[in-house]
Amino acid sequence: MQTIRSIKKMQQVARKIVAEGKTSALVPTMGFLHEGHLSLIRRAKKAADIVITSIFVNPTQFAPNEDLTKYPRDEKGDIRKIKQAGGDIVFIPKAADIYPDDFQTYVEVEKLTRDLEARSRPTHFRGVTTIVAKLFNITRPDVAVFGMKDFQQACVLKQMARDLGYPIKFIIAPTVREKGGLAMSSRNKFFSPEQRFEARCLYYALRTAKAMVRSGVKDTVKLTKEMRAVIKATCPTARIDYISLSDPTSFLPEYEVDRDTVCLLAVEVHGVRLIDNMKLR
Ligand code: AMP
Repeated sequence: MQTIRSIKKMQQVARKIVAEGKTSALVPTMGFLHEGHLSLIRRAKKAADIVITSIFVNPTQFAPNEDLTKYPRDEKGDIRKIKQAGGDIVFIPKAADIYPDDFQTYVEVEKLTRDLEARSRPTHFRGVTTIVAKLFNITRPDVAVFGMKDFQQACVLKQMARDLGYPIKFIIAPTVREKGGLAMSSRNKFFSPEQRFEARCLYYALRTAKAMVRSGVKDTVKLTKEMRAVIKATCPTARIDYISLSDPTSFLPEYEVDRDTVCLLAVEVHGVRLIDNMKLR
């Protein structure tokens, strides 16, 4: 497996892959990898000849009050895990190379970034779309693999790729969960065992909503109310940022659950902001 840190070198290697008639898949990550990330690498391996995994804690998607400096890192461990998962190339660019002095060009998707995550993180998606556009330009993948865990993000990026004409196939892979249902996340490392248990509140709420829908409840107000109650019962100190039952193409809220409705939520558990989502039918 090859570790590449220079943008120029990555561009050369990407050109070589194309020249040799091989296909490549990109898995963008911020590192501190867990089984969720590794599942994306394994999925990518089935879709292309060469899998490129990028590790970059992207400063432009963090607001000044967020956890950029606290974000967990383990480069050595990550490289080992990527190799074991079958990755071919790890691309680890430097922030100063990605965002040189006087950087002033951003990519922004409009409608899909108005609600949900964007409400409490207004500059977040602009950072995500900008870095992923740059990574696409540098690595020139045929396929890109993202996790359902960040469903709104995956949809925003798909829209960006469509609008800007990137000839890249998107694969959105299922959320990998810990035993007990908590969605794997690099930020879970901040929890004590008791807090980690309480962090299951998001999953319990989603599962409750799904069970209610299965038993015939369609009213999203009723579902949301029950989800709030489950969250509070599991983690009394939880701060619910949003619970939304939305149409997955527009992220506009729905009043009645239909075949496509996705339930998305963000909850702060013991100072750590977690997100999760689930299709309700
Ligand atoms: P991150 O390192 O958090 O930026 O995530 C990098 C990629 O991994 C994104 O496409 C995420 O959606 C995906 N991802 C993160 N957690 C999980 C998970 N538990 N299951 C599946 N994919 C995930």
